[in-house]
Amino acid sequence: MRDIVDRPRRASPPPTSRGHAIVIGASMAGLLAARVLCDHFARVTLIERDSLPAQAESRKGVPQGRHLHALHAKGEQILCRLFPGLGDGLIQAGATRVDLPGDIVWFHFGGYNVRFKSGLTQLAMSRPLLESHVRRRVLAIANLTCLEQYDVAGLVASPDRTRITGVTVRPRTEGRAESTLDADLVVDATGRGSRTPLWLEPLGYPKPTESAISIGYGYTTRLYRQDPTCLTDARIIFIQPTPPHDKRLGALYPIEGGRWIVTLGGYKGGHAPADEQGFLEHAKSLAAPDIYNVICRAEPISDFVTHGLPSNLRRHYEKLARFPDGYLVMGDAMCSFNPIYGQGMSVSAMEADLFDRCLTAAGRQGGLRGFARGFFNDAAKVIDNPWMIAVGGDFLYSGVEGKKAPGTDLVNWYVGHVHNATHHDPALASAFIQVLMLLKAPSSLFHPRVVLRVLKNRLLNRSPVYQAISRGVTPR
Ligand SMILES: Cc1cc2nc3c(=O)[nH]c(=O)nc-3n(C[C@H](O)[C@H](O)[C@H](O)COP(=O)(O)OP(=O)(O)OC[C@H]3O[C@@H](n4cnc5c(N)ncnc54)[C@H](O)[C@@H]3O)c2cc1C
Repeated sequence: MRDIVDRPRRASPPPTSRGHAIVIGASMAGLLAARVLCDHFARVTLIERDSLPAQAESRKGVPQGRHLHALHAKGEQILCRLFPGLGDGLIQAGATRVDLPGDIVWFHFGGYNVRFKSGLTQLAMSRPLLESHVRRRVLAIANLTCLEQYDVAGLVASPDRTRITGVTVRPRTEGRAESTLDADLVVDATGRGSRTPLWLEPLGYPKPTESAISIGYGYTTRLYRQDPTCLTDARIIFIQPTPPHDKRLGALYPIEGGRWIVTLGGYKGGHAPADEQGFLEHAKSLAAPDIYNVICRAEPISDFVTHGLPSNLRRHYEKLARFPDGYLVMGDAMCSFNPIYGQGMSVSAMEADLFDRCLTAAGRQGGLRGFARGFFNDAAKVIDNPWMIAVGGDFLYSGVEGKKAPGTDLVNWYVGHVHNATHHDPALASAFIQVLMLLKAPSSLFHPRVVLRVLKNRLLNRSPVYQAISRGVTPR
């Protein structure tokens, strides 16, 4: 098997090493899980079915990488702790630091967000640039081996089936035989298409229950050459559909190489066509004209790419009564969100951070027996808030279907007033952005100080959206 690690290695293995760990999937969740495992295990093997590019290029196993990817501040904080100097490296490679809402023309809930420098920032770049920098650093770790172009075909269990003891791997290159790799811990980070439920079923484990909120979302993306004469006073444009019946969204985002990535999308039936005229018409039909005004003049430098996402999908591993030792699931394999909220990579980072803490605690308590139960319980708490933000937000739009948590309409009614207030109140805009960036819990918007401010805004300002909500045009 080919060890692609030809980059600088860490001098010695970690002091508290536990044997061998395997991570399946070398995208964001897998890279971060592997980074954490390298501090706790003597050897870590990362297995990826794709050939991994040396540069910032999109690849087949991560098709979403060709679309706009925002990294929230919470995710950036964790990544920079795991990889000191990562932010500087990304900026040197062309990422731009943008202030929210200072650098963004943001139309939502029927109005433009108030613009001011808040100090809340984000690094804007392409997904392949971020992934390539994280990957380069992970592959340089001394006790990590990466097997590229290997498919994990299944799991190997102990005779009594209470423990996963390894995986079977199938090389993608011709003439090489399937083989088995033993491990003390295996992590599934294979994304939304994870086969864990299918792999565990023949071993006698039930499938996890799923929460699926059907959104029928579609992305169409194209790259443009940045032209400052087309966009003079901002770096990002984000136009959200006005609930409940508007379905179309658009975003323009700076990425390295002097490019803009423009993603147009929409809920059920609101997808943007992947042709010149249809794309421009979709941009023109958004709730505000800002993206159209730029792209009708800017130079396109790529073809169109599309991606569909049928639902927010959460697999409730925390609710399973039985789960084998020596096995875990992370990242999109556990929960994948409507991408417009830009949460998936940051949630993967939050899970990796939790994983690190759980492994440290397990080290003190003397072992990994029963580790999965505690991890899944804590991971469910990590996922709860981003899930509430995404699913709650989606239920504002007509046609979105799924089991609605009790109180969703009431919360949305209140959050509608928060949105409305962000059109003119910088303090509320900051509070709201901190929740979106996953720096604060949604419950922070219900702090008495915030509620009072929202009520004050409600009395003083009445925009059309507020009036629509107060007339009872609530989401279905
Ligand atoms: C259109 C779109 C836009 C998005 N925008 C954002 C955004 O703005 N911000 C954000 O934070 N998140 C965004 N996301 C989500 C983000 O892409 C994911 O959350 C993130 O990539 C973490 O996913 P993952 O690593 O768990 O899985 P994935 O990224 O899906 O990676 C799975 C990996 O496993 C490999 N693999 C699969 N099966 C096997 C196997 N059997 N053997 C070996 N290897 C295997 C694949 O090749 C791949 O490398 C977006 C998603 C989509 C679909």
